[in-house]
Amino acid sequence: MSGPLPTPRPMHRSTDDLNGQFWEHCARGALYFQCCLDCETWRHMPRYMCAQCGSANWEWRQSSGKGRIFSWIITHQAMHPKFRDETPYAALVVEMDEGVRFVSRPLGIANEDLEIDMPVQVVFETIEEGFALPLFRRA
Ligand SMILES: [Zn+2]
Repeated sequence: MSGPLPTPRPMHRSTDDLNGQFWEHCARGALYFQCCLDCETWRHMPRYMCAQCGSANWEWRQSSGKGRIFSWIITHQAMHPKFRDETPYAALVVEMDEGVRFVSRPLGIANEDLEIDMPVQVVFETIEEGFALPLFRRA
């Protein structure tokens, strides 16, 4: 008999088509957000209508992948056993150049080096076949 199975990393599972499309772009190493075709407002999280003008006309547009750190928190208590060895870790809010804010994690930036308005660039970490996580490194 072997020991208990290791706890798998929690993974995103698409709950609807829009979220699925967002993650399909990430799996191909590209960050896409929705943009309203009537008022040109970018948006995230994915949704069917524009919060700015109410339009249902939109398309996916590729993000520059560039933004600045808007805020962050340091997590000291892992909310899942898989992350226990990674604490304390930072959860970032990045304000993208397109204007949307995006929650992610830093890659290669020590917690004590984080700064408001630090320029950052998206980078994709492949977690498993068909799934990549958008993270942010210093630009
Ligand atoms: Zn709009």
